[in-house]
This record gives sequence, C-alpha cells and structure tokens, in this order.
Amino acid sequence: MRAVIIDAPGNMRVGSLPDPTPKPDELVIRVGACGICGTDLHIVDGDSPLVCYPIVPGHEFAGEVVEVGRNVPPGIGTRDMKVTAGTRVAVEPNLYCGHCELCRTGHENLCLNYAALGVTVDGALAEYVAVPAAKAYILPEHLSFREAALIEPISCAVHGMHRLDPKSGDTFLIVGAGTMGLLLVQLALRGGASKVAVVDLNTQRLQLAEKLGADSIQTDINKLLEDEPLGFDCVIDGTGVAPAIEGAFAAVKRGGKLLVFGVAPAEARISLSPFRIYNDEITVLGSMAVLYSFGPAINLLSSGIIDTEVMLTAALPLEDFPRALSMVRRGEGVKTQILPNG
Ligand SMILES: [Zn+2]
Ligand SMILES: [Zn+2]
Repeated sequence: MRAVIIDAPGNMRVGSLPDPTPKPDELVIRVGACGICGTDLHIVDGDSPLVCYPIVPGHEFAGEVVEVGRNVPPGIGTRDMKVTAGTRVAVEPNLYCGHCELCRTGHENLCLNYAALGVTVDGALAEYVAVPAAKAYILPEHLSFREAALIEPISCAVHGMHRLDPKSGDTFLIVGAGTMGLLLVQLALRGGASKVAVVDLNTQRLQLAEKLGADSIQTDINKLLEDEPLGFDCVIDGTGVAPAIEGAFAAVKRGGKLLVFGVAPAEARISLSPFRIYNDEITVLGSMAVLYSFGPAINLLSSGIIDTEVMLTAALPLEDFPRALSMVRRGEGVKTQILPNG
C-alpha cells in the first residue's frame, strides 16, 4: 500500500509498505479521509518526544472496514450491530494500557504507557490502517468520511468543555481561531454562553468565527476588554503560544477560569501572578486529548451542530502530503485532509 512515512525528524516521503493484516482483536480500515493537525507538524519536525520513528502519521480519520480479526466480538459500541467488511467507522486514536494507576482511576487520557495511532504506532495517512476494534465507532449513515474525520478534533474540544465545565450565561473569550478555536466557538455557543468573543491575528479566520456565530471578533485582545472591562468568565487558549496564554490569563474575570487547550512546546514557560490566582480566585485548567468524548462528538456532528462546510477546506491525495503540510503550517484554510484512496 501507499503511505506517508516519516523515517526520522525532517525526513518524510510517500512510499510503499506491506498491507496491514489484523491481529485477533483488530480491524483493518480502508482510510476514507484523514485530517492533518499541529501534532503531525510536531511529528515531522521531531519536537514531540513520544514519537516512535519510522512512523506513518495520521490520527484523525474515518473509513471502511475491510478485514475483521478473528476475536472481534459481533458488536462494537452497540450490542447488535455486526462489524463486517463494509462497516463505516471512525477510530479513537489514543491507545490506553488499562493497567496503570491513571487508567484505573478514570484518567485514561493521562495513561502512563502512552500510545496512539499515528504517533507511536502506524496511523492513517496510508491506504489502510490496522486498529483495535475496541477503538472503532460505527458511523451514522449520513456522515461522509470527510465529516467523520472531524470527530477526533471535535472530541478533543468536547473534553476541553468537560474540563472547563462552564455555567449557563458565562461569557467566553477564545484566543486563536484555528480549527480547535472554531470548534470551541460552536460548542460554547451551544453550551449556553451569553457572549463568545474571539481574538486572532488572522482576519480570515476571525471572519469564519463570526460566520459561526461569534459575538465579537478582534485582532487585539485589549479591544475586546474595552467592552468587558471585568474580563471573561471562561477564557480558552487555543494557540499554545506563551505570550498569548499570558494575555488570556489577564483577560479572565475575577472568579473565572482559564483553560490551557493549545499545545505549547514542552520547554515553554509563562509568567502568572500567584497573587492574582489567589486574590481573584482564578482557576487554571489543562485539557489533554480525549476522555469519554468520542461518542458525544459523534452525536454533535450527527445532529448538525458542527458546521462542516466552514470546517472542511482542502482535500488532497496522499501524494500531496508535503503540500498539505505546508498549508497547515501557513494557517491556510481550516481543516486540511488527505484522501488516501482518492
Ligand atoms: Zn489532531
Ligand atoms: Zn494506562
């Protein structure tokens, strides 16, 4: 099969690999669509310590089952739906060990033996990918593979909202209008926000935020604070950029919450006032990947709550992976996807 292969940091190619065969508890999926995100940039650049090279990246995907391992039970996710060749699925890419202390206490996303499709084992930027059947979710019929490949990033946003746990009527500020910021805008609006403001330097993306229902958009956070001098109840950083996170912290209302959602480089540092955290009772939260949020993400997508027309931009063949990657790097479009089987 054809696959994107990252042999080592900075060294990527589209080459040939043997077709995967399913282990007893696995499915082999013919990949319909696979999204590219910042994690893939980190894998190519070599600034993610968790990656096992050589690796086939790709963790945001959906496709069609072509082979079923011999120990896979008849229903996945549901009791009565049989998984056979032709079943359409999306796959949660995080592979929890189930044995460690964190897995056993309901924090599977923080598993001490971290593994993930497209990061530590071969992922879906290939014609085929082998996945544990327990990670596959049967898709509602009306969702296309391109739409369903959004389930993984939506489920990260859902987990972020679960962590933030906002109250109805809260005001929101979302810093960064990339794919994740735009998803969070939609979830905040649906979750009872009284106001959703968005700041980004990219005015095209700000316009998309407005199209999705954001109440105010600005390239300068201070302009947003002119209308909300006390700050916002819920502030979410979707950039992972240290000065932006410091700006986000400054925009939290007394008694409010900051969710650090964007992925900062591991060595990055921010400067926060502990006096302000104490005196203003600021809650600072993190949100890492997906936790019991894949099913809710499917429901949100299936109900039409996520505007897939805004979210889905370029779709390119596997051979164009380098071009797709540079589009993501430049912040061009919203979600860029690869269609490995055309
Ligand atoms: Zn991703
Ligand atoms: Zn574990």
